Amino acid sequence: MNISKTVTVPKMPIRLYGVIRESIVDGPNLRFVVFVQGCPHHCPGCHNPESHDPEGGFVTDTEKIWNNFLLNPSIKGITFSGGEPFLWAKELAAVGKAVRQIGLDVMTYTGYTYEKLLEKAETDEDVASLLEVTNYLVDGPYVEARRDLTLKYRGSGNQRILDVTCYPNSTSASEIDFDSVSEAQKRSK
Ligand code: SF4
Repeated sequence: MNISKTVTVPKMPIRLYGVIRESIVDGPNLRFVVFVQGCPHHCPGCHNPESHDPEGGFVTDTEKIWNNFLLNPSIKGITFSGGEPFLWAKELAAVGKAVRQIGLDVMTYTGYTYEKLLEKAETDEDVASLLEVTNYLVDGPYVEARRDLTLKYRGSGNQRILDVTCYPNSTSASEIDFDSVSEAQKRSK
């Protein structure tokens, strides 16, 4: 029996900016991308300024996101982007938990630094839950002065891709250099 059929997600409303059903630019491999609506960071030069208004976008629910995610068996993971995913930490954690249960991975973008999220997680269990289901955290605001088009999966040099799979057992996340990983893969072909 397909394990994904036995995994369910509690139905909770969530406001989205949009979804991309197949992406190869929002994390490793083929991914389903969820862009949430609402962002408090207002980074100058943000590529998705329409996602900032907390009343914008459209309302759907976590169950629909999960059902749509399952439609494509080629998808290897989910990416939470935005907007600010941690504004919807409880809802995304529920979807992310299901994704992890079927053996796929979760990438979460955030305008907060990892250190700030760790601080928030001490008093906000939803923030802790989203960190707990996340494998790869792309952290920090977009800084226009540090824009770098050569970077993989992020827009400016201050942003890190952190492997936070160890959380909450450990908070010592390691930085992943996907740029070198793909270069090494190219050389070995
Ligand atoms: S955190 Fe992301 S979505 Fe929010 S303003 Fe910055 S770049 Fe835009």
